[in-house]
Amino acid sequence: MTEVNLVDSAKCPHCREEVSGEELNALETAMAEETMLVCPECDTILGGAMGDGMFASLAATQLAEELDEIRDVVEALMDAAEADQPDDIDDESLELLDDRMGAAEVNIN
Ligand SMILES: [Zn+2]
Repeated sequence: MTEVNLVDSAKCPHCREEVSGEELNALETAMAEETMLVCPECDTILGGAMGDGMFASLAATQLAEELDEIRDVVEALMDAAEADQPDDIDDESLELLDDRMGAAEVNIN
């Protein structure tokens, strides 16, 4: 059995800020099942579980044009992540993703 030593504080690899346990911001995903620890100074992600939900949340933050839209984009991304084939993706989700990311194109030039 592996023993893990827990530390009370650590330095952020980005801004070198000393962060202790209580200061770490837990960023919860829209699905609320995964959490990431974020540096309180610079918002660098320091660790945590990364699953589809977290990926979708981070991607949606980049893709959404307004804060209100993030949830819709997360849902569209999750829809796409869970689909086995393009036909399984809800039309509205597909439309939103197309709009934000642009339709996939292959360029051979
Ligand atoms: Zn930092």
